[in-house]
Amino acid sequence: MTKPVIIAIRGLSRAFGEVRAVNAVDLDIFEGEFITLLGPSGSGKTTVLRMIAGFEKPDSGTILLGGKDVSQLPPYDRDVNTVFQDYALFPHMNVISNIEYGLRVKGVDKSDRRARAMQALQQVRLEGYESRKPAQLSGGQRQRVALARALVNRPSVLLLDEPLGALDLKLREQMQIELKELQRAVGITFIFVTHDQEEALTMSDRIVVFNHGRIEQIGTPREIYDNPQSSFVSEFVGQTNKIEIEGKKINVRPEFIVVSKSTSYGNRSVQGVLRDAIFVGATTRYLVDSSLGNTIISTNPREAIAIGETVTLSWDKEKEFLIQ
Ligand code: ADP
Ligand code: MG
Repeated sequence: MTKPVIIAIRGLSRAFGEVRAVNAVDLDIFEGEFITLLGPSGSGKTTVLRMIAGFEKPDSGTILLGGKDVSQLPPYDRDVNTVFQDYALFPHMNVISNIEYGLRVKGVDKSDRRARAMQALQQVRLEGYESRKPAQLSGGQRQRVALARALVNRPSVLLLDEPLGALDLKLREQMQIELKELQRAVGITFIFVTHDQEEALTMSDRIVVFNHGRIEQIGTPREIYDNPQSSFVSEFVGQTNKIEIEGKKINVRPEFIVVSKSTSYGNRSVQGVLRDAIFVGATTRYLVDSSLGNTIISTNPREAIAIGETVTLSWDKEKEFLIQ
């Protein structure tokens, strides 16, 4: 059932002066999966990726790629390719020359490299754009060229460091879907870096949550969202209410809390007063000053409620998670 491990990372650490950028990281990455390194800025994601690529040397620890220790090998001796956020295309070369570049350096002959470049171009749906220069392309198209340029080498692993960061929201959401579909089609292992939790939830087979150079949690999007193992994860991925009740510290997602005028809709209920209702498009966030002394947010109203009215907040205990 479990897929073979393509990358095995053990005890990986890297410091820059006093900063422990990556701190004792252990991680197995499976063949053909879409895995995302998620964490706030400065949590060590890029440094992990750069060590996998070979642009950065670990202080300690090992990286096995296909069973072979590559920790000390230069980038060109590793069967991985990187797509950078700024695309790093050659501005004076047209699209097809940009894509072929790596093959030319490797000495692949002309007809072979043209055929492979055309195939990569098709994979990213850019047929017909062969002779355009990067400046004549949109941001999304440039991103695709950068992808094709990496895919043409047929690496066993593709590393993507915030590749959608420069795109506006609409295009970004479209590219998230396309990239995920492309990954499925080519079957290459993708290691994707983002600080955007929604992006991570949308795209990934598994998510690795980073905080201060360490792994906080590894799991499927569902596991991470439904069962965060630390308050850091519960707050970084999705939104959560921190509530102290019956001497216990618990977390509940706003969508699991019903706000109503009096009836309770669960085996846990708390009284409060509706302070504000904030419309945010698909949902409305109900801010309730609770009798526990804090503000509790619900996105799940059962009836129309006016600001200032007394309300009951209720939820099922099964939806709570404990935070140590
Ligand atoms: P992320 O990609 O999650 O934002 P990085 O891996 O880029 O995080 O950085 C992790 C930490 O290491 C940060 O505190 C960053 O400032 C530091 N760092 C990264 N690269 C260097 C470098 N070349 N020199 C000094 N500090 C660095
Ligand atoms: Mg980074």
